[in-house]
Amino acid sequence: MAIVEPVIRPPAESDSFLLQVTLGCSANSCSFCGAYKNKTFRIKDQKEILADIHGYARRHSDARRVFLMDGDALVLSNSKLIPILEKLEQVFPRLSRVSSYANGCNITQKSDQELTELYDHKLSLIYLGLESGSQDILERCGKSSGVEEMIEAVQRAAKAHIKASVIVLLGLGGRKYSAEHVAGTIEALNRMQPRYLSFLSLMVIPGTPLAEEVRNGDFKELNSLELLKESYEIIKGFDLTKTIFRSDHASNYLALEGAFPKDKMALLNILESAIGGEIRLKPESLRGL
Ligand code: SF4
Repeated sequence: MAIVEPVIRPPAESDSFLLQVTLGCSANSCSFCGAYKNKTFRIKDQKEILADIHGYARRHSDARRVFLMDGDALVLSNSKLIPILEKLEQVFPRLSRVSSYANGCNITQKSDQELTELYDHKLSLIYLGLESGSQDILERCGKSSGVEEMIEAVQRAAKAHIKASVIVLLGLGGRKYSAEHVAGTIEALNRMQPRYLSFLSLMVIPGTPLAEEVRNGDFKELNSLELLKESYEIIKGFDLTKTIFRSDHASNYLALEGAFPKDKMALLNILESAIGGEIRLKPESLRGL
């Protein structure tokens, strides 16, 4: 079966076999997200999924990485996921990693044993959109996963050796709740201690409920300088012991990368220079999602 667009995947999965096991996102409730607004959620038929795997394997039997799509493929029960993972292991002898986006509840609804079973079948990385560590902000934007649930998800995944790549959305609190966004995000990340972390910057997508809030004046977006300051304050509060950090997403005005704790001061110095106008920011026209 042909892939049903739109397809959204993390930058790090550009060379992976993109295997669609669901269409859309099972939550599809976030006010800022336009990703799957025109896609009705459904789990693909198991036969279709297995046929897609065979179809790809005929052309690329040496595939090493597989990314399960769409928005939260781990909503599938293990009774559906394990046969898919077994088939991947069978047809791709060099398979080294299977990954997927995950909502918090996708992980917390599985037992420790089920998570270990996934890891034993090479599912070793999840991408989890925390967006903000402030529960109030998450509720305001309609995110179905809560902060505590997502912290538990990352911690329980780590216990099963599944690494988490956590995504923070700068600017999600707007001007009014920027301080809450910073404080909550620092606390959540310090408790999560994710292996990977990335920052994206909020871009208001036409047609979303957030765009309506902006039009009504209920939500005031941060400008580039305010986003840099938010980024600075969040990083300043981090007490991360082993996290690889990237903020090279197209939505960001400034690309950063480093590892915590070693590069914390260097990252803050770069941000200070950018805030002081010493580093040229990405022009608005080059930003994207
Ligand atoms: S959970 Fe993720 S994919 Fe689903 S609506 Fe929210 S931001 Fe979009």
